[in-house]
Amino acid sequence: MSEEKRDTQTSASQTRPRADIALRFTEWQIGFVQDCNLRCTYCGTGYGATGKKPGYMTEDLCRRLTAFVFAHTPEDQPIELGFSVGETFLHYEAFIRFADLLRREGHDKGISLKIHVSTNGTLLNPERLEALAERGIALTFSIDGPQILHDQCRKDPLGRGSFERAIENWRYYRALCTRNQRGSACVVHSVVSEHTRLADVIPFWLEQDLTIFDAVVQNPSSFASAEQNDGWHRRQELFLADFESWAMEQAQRLNVPGFLSEYTGPRQIFDIWQRLFLEREKPLCGAGLYTLAVDIDGDLYPCDALKLNPKWRVGNVIDGIDRDRLMQFRAERHQASHQCQSCEVKPYCPKSCFAMDPEASLAENFDVGCYYAKQCADIASRSYTVLSKCKEKKHVP
Ligand code: SF4
Ligand code: SF4
Repeated sequence: MSEEKRDTQTSASQTRPRADIALRFTEWQIGFVQDCNLRCTYCGTGYGATGKKPGYMTEDLCRRLTAFVFAHTPEDQPIELGFSVGETFLHYEAFIRFADLLRREGHDKGISLKIHVSTNGTLLNPERLEALAERGIALTFSIDGPQILHDQCRKDPLGRGSFERAIENWRYYRALCTRNQRGSACVVHSVVSEHTRLADVIPFWLEQDLTIFDAVVQNPSSFASAEQNDGWHRRQELFLADFESWAMEQAQRLNVPGFLSEYTGPRQIFDIWQRLFLEREKPLCGAGLYTLAVDIDGDLYPCDALKLNPKWRVGNVIDGIDRDRLMQFRAERHQASHQCQSCEVKPYCPKSCFAMDPEASLAENFDVGCYYAKQCADIASRSYTVLSKCKEKKHVP
């Protein structure tokens, strides 16, 4: 969902009766498959299984979940259905049946819906990609930049790199999406891990003619080694150093409002500049407010990342939402993010996450993430000043 829609939704929901907003969701995160064909060295989800038995959602649960989703969706707003955590295309045919069921139900109820799937890209082929594009499904490919860096981490169970297959399918889908009129989209997500620098990833995507991509730092996880988790702060600091160099370089090159069409690089810089330009604040994430996640057993959580912590199970598709647990979660997240209200960088801060480290509390997570969110906001704000001055310079006759 675009941030603009979220902004609109937040203000619209504030005017709705409280009893109605409490159990209505517009963003659904569906863990359809709890398994993966790869064995990435930094995998933070236990190869998609999140510590549970590997498997995928039964057809019966798909039908029940479809009814559940549309019973808890506002009648007057579009909804987003995201498939991530495990590798959804391990069960491609079953996924297509489920996606078609959701699309049919949305059509019958007059509710517009968008389906997107995060994938490692290795189980696709032209026939499958064409069927996905035909259905208007958006794909996010996880590709970590140059082959040598990607293959160090993203391996199959025999230790073989997955780059060639993933990039070939990404190229194919990207070409399909430029021709497709049905709303399909093709996005890239690169993990900056212990082996990677953002500075190595940026030129790779520019060489592929990709203007904007998502770059994320490898987070701590109960499935990663102690050494990997200990390196998290160092990875963040290196990421910020590269982030600043790139932001300043782009600010010298571009101007306002030219950056809106000419910016290239990681999305985070563009997003903050755009917020400064449009004076539109990024809200906190929707976890447990307008976002709900579900696993293959039908258990409900406030978001995908919180599936790793059983404390935050807030119900089940069969038994319904545990209202008390959900309210407890909402109260804790409100408390954890209280400091944002008086924060000077609030208008353009990318905001922290409540669930980066599943072992930590919501408040501990938010505090640590807040430090890095503030650094990002500061870098983007300083570079935006340079960007704005460049405009003045370029208009001097
Ligand atoms: S593709 Fe994703 S779920 Fe699969 S092993 Fe790699 S990081 Fe884990
Ligand atoms: S810097 Fe921290 S307190 Fe300030 S808006 Fe961002 S997340 Fe909230």
